[in-house]
Amino acid sequence: MSQRSIVPPETADRGGIPTRLQPVSDLISIDEARRRVLDAVTRLGHEDVPLDAALGRVLAEDVTSAIDVPPFDSSGMDGYALIAGPEAGLEVIGEARAGHPSAEAVQPGAAIRISTGAPVPEGADAVVPVERTAAVKGGVRVPATEPGANIRRAGEDVCAGAVVLHRGVVLGPAELGVAASVGRASLRCTRQPRVFVLITGDELTPPGEPLKPGGIYGSNGFALAAQVERAGGALAGRGTVPDTAEGTRAALDDALEAADVVIVSGGVSVGPHDHVKDALRDLGVEERFWGVRLRPGKPAWFGTRGDTLAFGLPGNPVSAMVTFQLFARPALAALQGAAPRATRTSALLAQPIARNRRRDEAVRVRLTHTDAGLVAEPTGAQGSHMLTSMLGADGLALILHGDGELAAGERVDVELL
Ligand code: AMP
Ligand code: MG
Repeated sequence: MSQRSIVPPETADRGGIPTRLQPVSDLISIDEARRRVLDAVTRLGHEDVPLDAALGRVLAEDVTSAIDVPPFDSSGMDGYALIAGPEAGLEVIGEARAGHPSAEAVQPGAAIRISTGAPVPEGADAVVPVERTAAVKGGVRVPATEPGANIRRAGEDVCAGAVVLHRGVVLGPAELGVAASVGRASLRCTRQPRVFVLITGDELTPPGEPLKPGGIYGSNGFALAAQVERAGGALAGRGTVPDTAEGTRAALDDALEAADVVIVSGGVSVGPHDHVKDALRDLGVEERFWGVRLRPGKPAWFGTRGDTLAFGLPGNPVSAMVTFQLFARPALAALQGAAPRATRTSALLAQPIARNRRRDEAVRVRLTHTDAGLVAEPTGAQGSHMLTSMLGADGLALILHGDGELAAGERVDVELL
C-alpha cells in the first residue's frame, strides 16, 4: 500500500476568527479524491458462495465449462425426427421426450415423435415441426426436409473448455443462469466488505419516536446503510454517537476493530462539537484527504489504518449520500475486485445552471432519452439539507466550477446513481 503522506491543512486565520477550514486552494478535485481512495484499497480474500446467495457478488475466478451446452444434439421443436429427404409418408416407431431419449434408432421410411429439448435419436438428421405434418393411418405425412433442420447442435451455446464468466464480473441473473447451465452449484466470490455505519449528532431522533426540542429525525443511518447494501457491502454494525470526544472515540474504536470500512456521518467539519477527525487520528487512522472541491460534500474526510478504510462524510443528508456515491461506492467495488464499469455518461442540460465559482457541483438530475440524446433535468431545489432532491434522481450532473452559467443544451458529465 502506498504511504503517501498528506499534510493536514494548516490553521487559517480568517478575519480574526481562527478556523481550521481549508483554503479553497487546498481542496482537491473529485477525481483526485477518488484516486486517493482507490490507491488505498487492497482486494479482499475470497470464499465459495452457493448460486442462490451470489446475486450481486463479485466473481473471483474465471469460470470454465467442463461440458458442451447443450450437452447433446437436441430438437428445437416439437415434431418428428427423421432422415432428411423428399415429402413422404412415414411410420412412427417411437418417441423421444425431454429427459427420456428414444431407445429406437430412426430407419428409412420411419420417424420418431420428438419434443423440444429431447436428444435426436440415432439415425435421424432432421426434425419436422408437428405443425407442418399431417397424421395419416399408421403414421405421419411430412414435407421435404433439409439435413440439420431444427436440430440444436451440442456445444452451440458453450463448448467444453470455454471460459464463460470472467473474474471481476458482478453476478447478475444472466451470470447466475450461465453458471448453472454449465453445472456449477457455487462460485468463488470475493468476500463482501464488512462496513460499519456510525451516525453522529445529539440532535438525531430515531424515526418512530417523538421529536424532542431541537431534534430532527436521523436519515443518514438508513440511507447510508442502504447505499452500502447496494454497493455490495455487508453491514457489520450501526450506531449513533453522541457529540463528545470520548463517545466518538469509543464508538470509532469498536467500529475500526469490527469492519473493513468505517463510514461516519457528521462531525467532520470545523465546529467545536465535531470530534470525528481528531478521534480517527488518535486511533491511528492516517488522513489521506480532508476537503474536496465539491458541492455538496466539501468537508469529506478519508483515511486508512492498515487495510481498514475510514470515511468521514458530512452530516447534511444530501452531502452524505453524494460523497458516499463518489468516494465510498468505488472503494467497495474495488475491495471486491470488481472490474471497472462505466459509472459516468454525458447528457445535455435541459435548463441553464449557474456555476459555483469555487467548487464543482453535483446536481441531482433525472435523465430522459430524446432524439438529441440523453437530457439531464435537475430534480428540484438543490440544498445539501434537502434530501427530497435525491428522489427520482438518475444521476449527479457534474457542473465544473467557474463563472457565469452553463447554458441549456450544454453537455455535462453525469455520474450514474
Ligand atoms: P454536521 O456535519 O454534523 O455538522 O451536520 C450537518 C447538518 O446535517 C446538521 O444540520 C445536522 O443536523 C444534519 N445531520 C447530521 N446527521 C444527520 C442525520 N443522520 N440525518 C439527518 N440530518 C443529519
Ligand atoms: Mg453534527
